[in-house]
Amino acid sequence: MSKTVAVIGAGASGMMAAICAARAGAQVVAYERNDRVGKKILATGNGKCNFSNENMGSEWYYGSGRRLIDEVYKTFGLREAKAFFADLGMRMRNRNGCLYPASEQAATVLDVLRYEMMRLPVSVHTNQQVVEVKRHKGGFEVVTADRQRCRCDAVILCCGGMAAPKTGSDGAGLRLAEALGHRIVPTVPALTALRCKESFYKQIAGVRCDAGLALWVEKRRVCEERGELQLTDYGISGIPVFQMSRHAAYALREQKYTTVEIDFMPGYQDNEYERFWTERWARQKEQIMEQFVTGIVNKKISLLLLKLAGIKETERAADVSDARRERLSGLYRAFTVELKGTNSFDQAQVTAGGVDCREVTAQMESRLVPGLYFAGELLDVDGVCGGYNLQWAFSSGATAGLAAAGKTEAS
Ligand SMILES: Cc1cc2nc3c(=O)[nH]c(=O)nc-3n(C[C@H](O)[C@H](O)[C@H](O)COP(=O)(O)OP(=O)(O)OC[C@H]3O[C@@H](n4cnc5c(N)ncnc54)[C@H](O)[C@@H]3O)c2cc1C
Repeated sequence: MSKTVAVIGAGASGMMAAICAARAGAQVVAYERNDRVGKKILATGNGKCNFSNENMGSEWYYGSGRRLIDEVYKTFGLREAKAFFADLGMRMRNRNGCLYPASEQAATVLDVLRYEMMRLPVSVHTNQQVVEVKRHKGGFEVVTADRQRCRCDAVILCCGGMAAPKTGSDGAGLRLAEALGHRIVPTVPALTALRCKESFYKQIAGVRCDAGLALWVEKRRVCEERGELQLTDYGISGIPVFQMSRHAAYALREQKYTTVEIDFMPGYQDNEYERFWTERWARQKEQIMEQFVTGIVNKKISLLLLKLAGIKETERAADVSDARRERLSGLYRAFTVELKGTNSFDQAQVTAGGVDCREVTAQMESRLVPGLYFAGELLDVDGVCGGYNLQWAFSSGATAGLAAAGKTEAS
């Protein structure tokens, strides 16, 4: 007899779980609190949906689920995701390893998933918030906010984390998991901008530049990134900042002194850098400092660094003391800003933390409650920018869907 599977949350992971469970022969009911499914998918990849990456593996992820990721990707990894979407008629485009639908429309990814749910069919209940999952003799009872009840053999929690709560994921799923006895690793916003303490950001807001960044937590250099830095009126943003934000968020949560060292002239070896300045001071010594710094990096940055080095824009280069010259060149190379926070979950792309993966099997089943499965961002897994979070949502969803229906391999 076929199993009845309830999927809670119809985002990326939930839709994939529902499709895979239904294809494996289960009767599937999906509950979604929004008036439509997959709302967050439409916002991904700037509306283009970067759904995966050619360089896939657990090394691109953080959290307690790294070992789990390796196992899950053996069942449903990059190859299977590409085949799955190709089979649904979606052409793909590879941009420097990042995979997008060829239409460059996130709606394509959502549409092919929706159409497949309709075809199977999966019974989708929108505007239905699940408020309780009760264990029941040999199965579960799912209770919605308007007191509808549904008995099922297996439940897959796919409610997402806490990022972008306007799309429906506000942490409700974490509370359901906790109520069923699961440990929740503390959650923080990730893939988000960082707020800084200094008061000069209004002067440089809007600047975008190539930079090397190093995150320091107290005396420890935690990670390094290189890429386009964006200065905002409250701090720093851009992909390299997003990539380090989860480390910063955990350090700040523990109230640790956390800084970012910015190299505005990345790519120079130390001796090349020294030579650059020696030659410039010699060749441009008759210029006033505003002229002298023109052309090194974005002018707004240069004028700020001049000020911080105690050098007037109108001063002649030849009159700048050695100590102030050294301060200036030091600032271009290692400009330290102090962090006071991250942006909130409202502006974060993902959640770091969530259901502790040590309590979950490679089939995405709870080790504490047989028949309960998890998928997606609800779990303590967060990937870097580049399609890793959606691949995780799809892979964990597919694995959970198959297992909940009683199968271990895609048919
Ligand atoms: C702006 C933005 C851009 C992004 N861009 C990318 C990108 O390009 N590439 C990438 O890989 N990742 C990207 N991400 C991250 C990625 O979208 C998520 O990691 C992924 O969608 C998570 O899927 P999920 O199914 O776990 O959760 P979600 O997509 O959050 O889905 C959870 C669903 O569950 C529903 N729900 C929650 N609680 C309940 C309940 N109690 N009852 C019923 N329904 C419930 C919610 O309404 C929601 O529809 C981006 C995220 C954001 C916010």
